[in-house]
Amino acid sequence: HAKDQGRDGYCFFESSMNANAHEQLQLLQDLRHALERNELVLYYQPKVLAPNGQTTGAEALLRWQHPQRGLLAPDQFLPLAEKTGLIVPIGQWVINEACAQMRRWRVLGREDWSVAVNLSASQFAHSGLVETVRSALQRHALEPRNLTLEVTESTAMRDADTSLAILDRLAEMGVSISIDDFGTGYSSLLYLKRLPATELKIDRGFIRELEAGSDDAAIVAAIIALGRTLNLKVIAEGVETTPQRSFLTELGCDSLQGYLLGRPMPAQQLTDSFVTPQPA
Ligand code: C2E
Ligand code: MG
Ligand code: MG
Ligand code: MG
Repeated sequence: HAKDQGRDGYCFFESSMNANAHEQLQLLQDLRHALERNELVLYYQPKVLAPNGQTTGAEALLRWQHPQRGLLAPDQFLPLAEKTGLIVPIGQWVINEACAQMRRWRVLGREDWSVAVNLSASQFAHSGLVETVRSALQRHALEPRNLTLEVTESTAMRDADTSLAILDRLAEMGVSISIDDFGTGYSSLLYLKRLPATELKIDRGFIRELEAGSDDAAIVAAIIALGRTLNLKVIAEGVETTPQRSFLTELGCDSLQGYLLGRPMPAQQLTDSFVTPQPA
């Protein structure tokens, strides 16, 4: 009768909790073990210079190779990691792993690349961030400019004084700071001026339907001008088409990222196609 009992157990769960809550609970139990079981992976997406297509580095994007559910994207498990504090050890792993990969690229001659790591707000609340970064750079013998940290305005705003203080220390160390999804947050220009950023990343939302004469074109041009004024590099995310690329280049956007230039991919694949391309 074991089978029947199993079924009853399942039915009991179904009637007392909704299926989604049950699934989240299961996912959380799995996530607690994901690190030690080596199930987390970083994919990398190239960042290229707009005028000549030269690769200047890559952004690390977290994936979870779940034993039953397959490869999961961040939106399928990061909210849970943030809610439960698991984001702290996961975030430390990401920083360390991205730095380990940057070391491999340095060995292959890409000394001036920068690997970009995304940070969420809860990682700022945890005081160990600066130390985590410092020791990862040291362990992998990197220069601080080999690392870029991507933060959204809302992330930096959540506990602004604390976050700014931490970002200042990271910037003083020489680490680059990129403002991710720029234009979507609760943007105060005064606040932007206080952020020790080196790069603005224009949100994909402004790129998706970008065409000459549109509102998006005016906004993108304004962001590029703002970047110039504040002495920040400007990169566009979500570049999918050749017309978008040409237009952004024409507008003076410094760098591009998106499926057109390269999808997020395993480190080895990025190395094969962007570091040591095989002769055709
Ligand atoms: P993000 O940092 O803004 O990353 C860009 C997202 O857009 C990525 O989704 C990327 O795969 C996707 N993307 C890139 N190019 C294109 C394109 O041309 N078209 C379209 N439609 N999408 C494109 P992904 O990998 O699912 O990551 C989603 C978000 O999860 C990231 O947004 C970032 O905020 C967060 N995230 C990813 N990895 C980490 C991490 O290690 N730590 C933290 N704290 N957050 C992370
Ligand atoms: Mg990002
Ligand atoms: Mg983004
Ligand atoms: Mg985003």
